[in-house]
Amino acid sequence: MSIFWIYFMLFVSAFLECLCSSTTNNSDVKLLLVSFDGFRASYLELYAFPNLQKMITSGTLVKHVNNVFVTKTFPNHYSIVTGRFAESHGVVANTMYDTATNKSFSTFEDKDPFWWNEATPIWVTNQQQGHKSGGAMWPGTDVFIHNTTPSYYLNYNYSTPFSKRVDHIIEWFTNSTGPINFGTLYWEEPDSTGHRSGPDSKELKNKLKEVDNNIGYLIDQLQKTGLWNTVNIIITSDHGMAQCSDKKVIQLDNCIGRGNYTRVTNSPVAAILPLSDVNYVYKLLSNCDTHMKVYLKEDIPDRFHYKHNKRIQPILLVADEGWTIVQNGSITQLGDHGYDNALPSMHPLLVAYGPVFKRGYKINSINNIDIYPLMCRVLGLKEEPNNGTFGNVRCLLASESCVGLPDVIGIVIGSLMILITVLCLLILLKKRATPRRAFARLQLQDDDDDDPLID
Ligand code: AMP
Ligand code: ZN
Ligand code: ZN
Repeated sequence: MSIFWIYFMLFVSAFLECLCSSTTNNSDVKLLLVSFDGFRASYLELYAFPNLQKMITSGTLVKHVNNVFVTKTFPNHYSIVTGRFAESHGVVANTMYDTATNKSFSTFEDKDPFWWNEATPIWVTNQQQGHKSGGAMWPGTDVFIHNTTPSYYLNYNYSTPFSKRVDHIIEWFTNSTGPINFGTLYWEEPDSTGHRSGPDSKELKNKLKEVDNNIGYLIDQLQKTGLWNTVNIIITSDHGMAQCSDKKVIQLDNCIGRGNYTRVTNSPVAAILPLSDVNYVYKLLSNCDTHMKVYLKEDIPDRFHYKHNKRIQPILLVADEGWTIVQNGSITQLGDHGYDNALPSMHPLLVAYGPVFKRGYKINSINNIDIYPLMCRVLGLKEEPNNGTFGNVRCLLASESCVGLPDVIGIVIGSLMILITVLCLLILLKKRATPRRAFARLQLQDDDDDDPLID
């Protein structure tokens, strides 16, 4: 009987789900995607964040976002806007080298579309499907990817204040001739302070207060212009931050001569291009330090999704959490990222606020490649091929009804209570309905003929 009730409730909720998801209307939905670089998930416990909490209370919080390997800025920002792993979108690191063309890429030299054209970011798809996009310094937004930049964009300049970036975003959303429906906004903090002072520092805590003030400024401007109740906002980040130390340094010069290799990326994930025999270089490096894993390209673990691209170099060094790879000498920074993407310290969070998102909803984790199909659904766009799964993120949407574990427990307990009440009532009624059997008076009959027992 109780099983019947559970199935019945689940059936009803599944039915309602289908009904709701088929009635989403995206015609004039607006979406703003914001990244605060290096905002580690656990930073939420370090400071009260009055402004961010406002959005969490009336929106949705994802406590951990599983980001892609390598946990660096360019690969992850491009994964968020393409829904692809680094091996599939081609921006495999912050610095890259292509052997066939002899081309190099760095954060300072990132404008060649060659590096970006293996995928199509959502701002391009949005424009191809009839809308306007805006880009305020999100990596790639000042590049002609597939011959297209966002309709409005800013050339990257780290000294442009946050407030100015926000003012541009507001102007683009309200532009009287051609407003955007999708904007991206990027800010360098708390990453810079995290590198300089470390994630456990007082400086970092102070910077978080400043980041929350930045969010406050964004909210104020959206409210002043009447956008606050119409623009949907996703605040997330590319990666977290781990504490480093000058006592955790791996010195390659102790193991291998510099003439044997070129370091294409440095630390904590070093891409090694051997200049002599690959196996010889591999052997020297594999015996170098127990705090560093050494992989031949073909042996890189599948879970990294970091093998199938010609920009990935023949040997990959991956330092353990908190360790730094150098050729010699020491380090000056106290925080870094780039490590294994399974480490919680590498994970950012996500906050979604606005009419399309659930209010007061919290879930533990999603993948950052799932943000792309979520955004496409919100904007009503046909997705480009990607590695993301909408099913993982659909519950963030107000239009989707989801039965979580607490709901299921509630349904089971509720059904049991109803069942027990009904059973008790039935027993009681049954007792009332049965007529009481009167006591039969015992008739003592005279039996004079009886023989006495004892003569
Ligand atoms: P990471 O070392 O991975 O933390 O990289 C963070 C740095 O990337 C920032 O401090 C910026 O200097 C740089 N950066 C971020 N966005 C852009 C951009 N759109 N164009 C160029 N460089 C950028
Ligand atoms: Zn970053
Ligand atoms: Zn960084």
